[in-house]
Amino acid sequence: MPRIRNKDRASAYRERLRNVGLRHTLPRERILSYLDRKNTHPTPEELYQGLRKKGYAIGLSTVYLNLQVLRDAGLIYEFKDPKGVTRYDGYSKPHHHLACRSCGRVEDILASELPEFLEPVIPEAEAKSNWDLDSARVTFLGYCPRCKRSR
Ligand SMILES: [Zn+2]
Ligand SMILES: [Zn+2]
Repeated sequence: MPRIRNKDRASAYRERLRNVGLRHTLPRERILSYLDRKNTHPTPEELYQGLRKKGYAIGLSTVYLNLQVLRDAGLIYEFKDPKGVTRYDGYSKPHHHLACRSCGRVEDILASELPEFLEPVIPEAEAKSNWDLDSARVTFLGYCPRCKRSR
């Protein structure tokens, strides 16, 4: 693992953390950076293995703890896949999820690749619920290309 760190990237993470009132720490930066680059929606264990594989010696409990801190600050998104497994998402670009009922895999589909279908109904949802809403995400359920073939 090269020791060179991209200064600009590090300060971008520092700013992202500061914006939500969090102190910059290396585990937080590594977790955010990993989730930014991989849209595999890892479980905490997968994230832990992925970081270790990149040569970063982090403990599993540190991963769990920081995932909760980052989730509570709204920097990452926590959700359950169709099998009920908790997964994490870097959530940097507005996107929706395609979830496979058979293998549980969850893929992203960018909101910008679809016609605008949710934003127009936000005012209506606000009127009906009396909530203050700012965004909407959906999960499309079905079968991924691999599972579709074997059905
Ligand atoms: Zn599948
Ligand atoms: Zn996602």
